[in-house]
Amino acid sequence: MTGWLPVRRIPRERPSAPLRGHKLAHPMVSADGTGAGFGGVTLGRASVYGVLADAQCAQGGRHRCPSRWCDCGFYCVHTLGDARALACDPDYRYAVLLEVAASGRYIRYERGLRYARQRVISVRVGRCACGHRARVLAETGVGTVGWRRLVAACLDCAGTRPSLTFGAFSRLLSGLPVRSDTGEPRAAEPTAPQPRQAEAEPSQMSAVPTEALVPMLTAEVALLQARLDEVQRQLARLTPP
Ligand SMILES: [Zn+2]
Ligand SMILES: [Zn+2]
Repeated sequence: MTGWLPVRRIPRERPSAPLRGHKLAHPMVSADGTGAGFGGVTLGRASVYGVLADAQCAQGGRHRCPSRWCDCGFYCVHTLGDARALACDPDYRYAVLLEVAASGRYIRYERGLRYARQRVISVRVGRCACGHRARVLAETGVGTVGWRRLVAACLDCAGTRPSLTFGAFSRLLSGLPVRSDTGEPRAAEPTAPQPRQAEAEPSQMSAVPTEALVPMLTAEVALLQARLDEVQRQLARLTPP
């Protein structure tokens, strides 16, 4: 993919201020319902991180993350616009979009970063799979040890599934801003599920703009591509002709 080769790689570069970026993640709630976090959509899928997190080697390595010889570390792209411009993979359309501040060691790619420390700054929640604006984060029935994965849903689609309002999810993360990613500056979140009649939204799928139908982003996929490019280059160096 053009633009994803690691044109500049400066492992020891240390910025004076954290670098902002954007990434995809699955919203998660702890098994006992008292904690929330995020699960990776590609690398580190089995681990769940909170607002503040330090990367650990997903391969069990003892080196510091990120290592140029490994794929560990957090990943993000530089801009929201860039993230949105990347391919929309149906596999990841149910993830939410995080704005993050990256700090510590990092490796810079043309369009993103792989880095050691992360603070999640805000969460943007896309539309329900049906195209309506999501109102809650509903349990999906899948997860990882100790954590249940959530997905954005409208009240109709959430049905009787256990779910959290955006406000409740935010409170489990010390007030982290959680908003709807449908164009409104800030979602007005109900504190409890509203009657279905309160959904003043089009009931016809045809009324929903096609481009608004779950265009969630695959920033991490593109970064994985960059990682593969890098590994391939290292292999070429190590393999005798
Ligand atoms: Zn590693
Ligand atoms: Zn729905």
